[in-house]
Amino acid sequence: MDCLFCKLIAGEIPSTKIYEDEKILCFKDIAPQTDVHLLVTPKEHICCANAITSENSGIVAYIFEKIPEIAKSVGVTDYRIINNCGEGAGQTVKHLHFHILSGPNLNEKLV
Ligand code: 5GP
Ligand code: ZN
Repeated sequence: MDCLFCKLIAGEIPSTKIYEDEKILCFKDIAPQTDVHLLVTPKEHICCANAITSENSGIVAYIFEKIPEIAKSVGVTDYRIINNCGEGAGQTVKHLHFHILSGPNLNEKLV
């Protein structure tokens, strides 16, 4: 499968890892939008939020359980979690991932 994040998870593409276990990987975004910009992704290939089902939703809960721990490990308690689903919403990598953003330029609120 020609998936950038599957290759990154397999170690075929280098990344700066922040957290890893058997189910998920967290790494630094290559083009950070703010001081802290991490991506958290399941190791299992799920293309996007539209592909979350009762069969695979456990990994989403697991990611959200781990996010506070990951955020704490990089010294932040205030952060924004973003998921872009579909090209029309800005998704460029078709492997489910959550952006964790923290920094002084998060003042503008979209929602
Ligand atoms: P999306 O636009 O799909 O919500 O987010 C994809 C993110 O992946 C972007 O913020 C982009 O900067 C990041 N990204 C794209 N290619 C790479 C890469 O090779 N390595 C890392 N660490 N991040 C990447
Ligand atoms: Zn993938």
